[in-house]
Amino acid sequence: MALNDGLTLMHEHMSIALSPEDVGTEAFDLQCRDLEDAYRYGVRNVVDLTNQTMGRSPEHVRRLTEATGMNIIMCTGYYFEELIDPAVMDRTPEDIAEEAVRELTEGIADSGMKAGIIGEIAWSLDGPYEKELKTWEGMCIAARRTGAAVSTHSSRGIQQIPQAEYLKARGIPPEKIVIGHSDFCKDDERLKKLFRTGVFVGLDMIGKDYGEGDEFRADRVRKIKEWGFLDRLLLSMDICRTKDLRSAGGYGYAHLFEKFIPMLERRGITEGEIELMLKNNPEKVFESKRISVSSAISNSILP
Ligand SMILES: [Zn+2]
Repeated sequence: MALNDGLTLMHEHMSIALSPEDVGTEAFDLQCRDLEDAYRYGVRNVVDLTNQTMGRSPEHVRRLTEATGMNIIMCTGYYFEELIDPAVMDRTPEDIAEEAVRELTEGIADSGMKAGIIGEIAWSLDGPYEKELKTWEGMCIAARRTGAAVSTHSSRGIQQIPQAEYLKARGIPPEKIVIGHSDFCKDDERLKKLFRTGVFVGLDMIGKDYGEGDEFRADRVRKIKEWGFLDRLLLSMDICRTKDLRSAGGYGYAHLFEKFIPMLERRGITEGEIELMLKNNPEKVFESKRISVSSAISNSILP
C-alpha cells in the first residue's frame, strides 16, 4: 500500500464503537472539517486503526476519502479478549490468517475497500489471553504472507517489549512493526530497550490530557533524539471521541501542528526531524518489502 506524498498520522480512528462518546458515521460532516484542517497542514494519509472488533466501517471511510481527498488506510485485526467472538477458538490460526490476507489483498467483504495494515491488535492489561494469542498467531501468518505492517495497542507502558519480541520471534521484520501508545512509558531504560529491538514506536496520544500530558511527551521526543532513535519514532493523536474534533469544540488534528510542534521546536527539534517522524518514518513502515520465507519462526510462547 503506497502512501500519498505528504505527512501521515499513523494511529487514528474514523469510526469506533466502544463507548457512547466514540466517533462514528453520524459525525461525518464534523470529521470532514477536521480532515480538511489536517490536509491544510500537509497531512495526506491517515491510518484508521479501527479493526473489525471495534466498529470498522469501510463505507464511512470511502465517503470520507471521497469528500476530503485524504488517503485513509484501513486495517484488519482483532482488539481485546472481551471483544473477540469466542468462535475464534474453533478456528485455526491459518483460517484467521486467510481472512486477513483476503482483506489485505482483495478487499473487506464486498466494500471495494482494502486493508493496508494489520492493527490495532491488542493485549489486555493483564494479558495476553487465549483469544488474543490465537488471533495474533493468525495475524503473524498474514503479515509474513503479505508483507503488511503490524501495529499494536500496548497497555500502560509495560507490554511494548514483549509485543515487539513476540512479533520478531515470528518472523516479522522490526521495520514492519509499530508498537503503539509508548506515551505511558515513563521508564527511560525500558523505552531505550524497546528502540533497540529495531521496531517503530508510536507516541500516538498527543493532545490527550490523561497519561502524562503533552509537556511530558515533548520532553520524551527530546530524549529520544538524544538517544539517536528519532528515525524510529511516529507521532499521532488517536482521536476517537466526537467531542475531541475541533469542529465539535475540541482540540482536533490541528492541535498537533499549532500546539505540539511548537513545543518540540522550543526543545530544539528541527523541521527536518519533524518531517522524519511525520513523513519519512511512515513511508518506511509502508514500503513494500518481501519477507524472506527462511525467516526463523520460533515456536516459543512469549512473553
Ligand atoms: Zn487507537
